[in-house]
Amino acid sequence: MNDPAPNAIQRIEARSAEIDGGLAVNRLLPSRHRRMIGAWCFLDHAGPAAFAPGGGMRVGQHPHIGLQTFTWMIEGEVLHRDSLGNAQMIRPGQVNLMTAGRGIAHTEESPDGETVLHAAQLWIALPESHCDCPPAFDHYPELPRWSEGGCDFTLLAGAWGRHRAPARLYSPLAGVDLHSASGARLDLPLDPAFEYGLMVLEGAASIDGETCAANELAYMGRGRDRCALALAPAARAILVGGEPFGRDIHMWWNFVAPDRARIVQAQRDWESGAARFGEVPGFDGPRLVAPALPPGY
Ligand code: MN
Repeated sequence: MNDPAPNAIQRIEARSAEIDGGLAVNRLLPSRHRRMIGAWCFLDHAGPAAFAPGGGMRVGQHPHIGLQTFTWMIEGEVLHRDSLGNAQMIRPGQVNLMTAGRGIAHTEESPDGETVLHAAQLWIALPESHCDCPPAFDHYPELPRWSEGGCDFTLLAGAWGRHRAPARLYSPLAGVDLHSASGARLDLPLDPAFEYGLMVLEGAASIDGETCAANELAYMGRGRDRCALALAPAARAILVGGEPFGRDIHMWWNFVAPDRARIVQAQRDWESGAARFGEVPGFDGPRLVAPALPPGY
């Protein structure tokens, strides 16, 4: 499939999906219409949701390979634990970045007494040079934040003007959270080498005149050096961008890899309880079971 011409904007509606543990999310990527934006290969929007204490997120022990999970917390708190021994609460305005590399296991749960959740969970495919790297976990309690033209910017990933986000990444990427209490019209500078997408989380936003509602993604392609963004009052959106990844990836369950052989091996290793993924200490609940690979995979 050819990319749309630089001036065409492709609008993609989220599909509703259920993450392990039963929480409903809106999934914008991958979609039938688009697989990736740069190295961003999975865009999930969770909430905004309110629930009784004891509800919320409860994702048992499960593995990842070949990707980074990038969690951006907007409202509420979630406790992350992993097989490297990390136990980290993530709070509004913070990012958790887990680099799975050759293999890690983790859990995610709303803490006792929590009643709200609003977050984006984004996956970043690792380039082939790093897909087998040692696993790592980073917590970023503070991100670059500023206001401009009635819009509050939080830089999640990459660079924006003189600002640099701290997240440790392996591909040229950008990510910025845009929120406006009273509405805003902005002219945003872009990198023509990057393709971009605007993931609308709340309210309405328009990009170069194309209007999107919450849980729609406006894919912009590359070759633009700027775009006109309008945010309705109380709207929130995330602009993600990156250099086109340049090759196909394979995604199955919680695994991302440049080839199917790595996925088949990861699936076997998880099923057999191999030491590769380790054990998550402190989580009271069973390991998740991988769905069977499709026949002939
Ligand atoms: Mn996970």
